[in-house]
Amino acid sequence: MTTVVIGAGIIGTAIAHDLQRRGQQVLLLDRDAPGRGASFGNMASIAVTEFMPASRPSVWKQIPGWMLDPEGPVRIRPSYMPRLLPWFLRFIAASRPSKLRALEAEGAALCARSLDDTLALLRETGLENQISDEGCLSLYTDEAEFKADRDHIEILDRFGFPHEVIGRQAIKALEPELSDKIGMAVRFPQNRSMRDPYQLVVKLAERFTALGGRIDTGEVTGFTRADSIREVVLKDGRRIAADAVVICAGAFSGRLSAMLGEPIPLETERGYHTQIMAPGISMKHSIIWPARAFMVTPTAGGIRVGGTVEMAGLDAAPDYRRAKITVRRAREALPALRCEDFTEWMGHRPALPDTVPILSASAKTKGVFYATGHGHLGLTYAATTARLMGDLITGAKPQLDLHPYRVNRF
Ligand SMILES: Cc1cc2nc3c(=O)[nH]c(=O)nc-3n(C[C@H](O)[C@H](O)[C@H](O)COP(=O)(O)OP(=O)(O)OC[C@H]3O[C@@H](n4cnc5c(N)ncnc54)[C@H](O)[C@@H]3O)c2cc1C
Repeated sequence: MTTVVIGAGIIGTAIAHDLQRRGQQVLLLDRDAPGRGASFGNMASIAVTEFMPASRPSVWKQIPGWMLDPEGPVRIRPSYMPRLLPWFLRFIAASRPSKLRALEAEGAALCARSLDDTLALLRETGLENQISDEGCLSLYTDEAEFKADRDHIEILDRFGFPHEVIGRQAIKALEPELSDKIGMAVRFPQNRSMRDPYQLVVKLAERFTALGGRIDTGEVTGFTRADSIREVVLKDGRRIAADAVVICAGAFSGRLSAMLGEPIPLETERGYHTQIMAPGISMKHSIIWPARAFMVTPTAGGIRVGGTVEMAGLDAAPDYRRAKITVRRAREALPALRCEDFTEWMGHRPALPDTVPILSASAKTKGVFYATGHGHLGLTYAATTARLMGDLITGAKPQLDLHPYRVNRF
């Protein structure tokens, strides 16, 4: 029985590792080397407190204003708007109050497990040193800014995610480089970050091959199937026999599901980072500043500044002005931050209009499974996804009811 896992990002690599560990014969297939997609350059955070649906009113009501601001946290390229419309209508449909409550619970159910599952995966693979001990600080200049983020904190209270409100002195004691402008913060102790998210994928892929798993390079361009999946067809003409196929090609998964006659409304929320190797400061915690919409994480041997959402599809060239905006904003919080010896990067977050991922068997073809649409939380959800998909694919009972994450919910 050969299972072909398509996409060697953090999601596909974690699933391949889990299946191989359970005794399956697994081939992990990617058109590139493992970890070169979105999983390469994310902000490295196990962001368990960030499961809120993007379609909540406090977010989407700001979209018209952001549209007029070229430096706003969300940018939609005008030429891409017509193509985005069907996705955007589904996004608005996901903003009904009853729907929002359900989506919050579905995200919280995954996040409630994610740190434990991540730590278990790291222990099992001897990669415990890949995660930091410190959490994340959410920053606010004053009480008014804090109040504007109240819905976030209220949701965390409702689902019991630990957090602690701290004042200026405590902030300074934790992160002396932060500006005096920052009057309040919320500390999220569980939001620990990876030392290097790309290296995490590389090392996990090594652990997978050490268990007997195989990795191959090739771009998937089609499938053959009858009632069930038969073969994966590659661009170079090869055909790989498969008893099961797991589609986890990140933002590109929609192209593959369409080849299987099962379209999913997957968009890309493009995000940027600047990896600064000579920042002139050091930090222990990651920080987010909700009102300025950026994040800073000490990772990959330096300091990474990132964030923003750009809707421009899978094929448009990067616009690195987005990265420069976040560095400028980060300097408001970290006045001594220098931007020397740096690289800029753009990655494709796989985004579904209702924010929660697809963790599902195909509704159309036996032997096909999907694990995609993890949006802003693919690193956070990876270990949990691997465990749940491992159960689903091997016929064990997943520890969570996967009905809300089904592929045909749209
Ligand atoms: C700026 C930014 C910051 C982020 N910060 C965080 C964070 O702090 N915490 C967090 O949890 N998440 C974060 N994310 C989100 C996270 O990075 C993604 O959700 C996650 O990496 C998605 O993983 P993936 O394995 O699904 O996709 P990817 O890592 O993109 O992997 C998909 C793989 O599929 C391959 N592929 C595609 N098409 C084909 C094909 N036809 N044939 C063969 N192979 C194919 C690609 O080459 C790629 O390697 C961030 C994302 C960005 C962009």
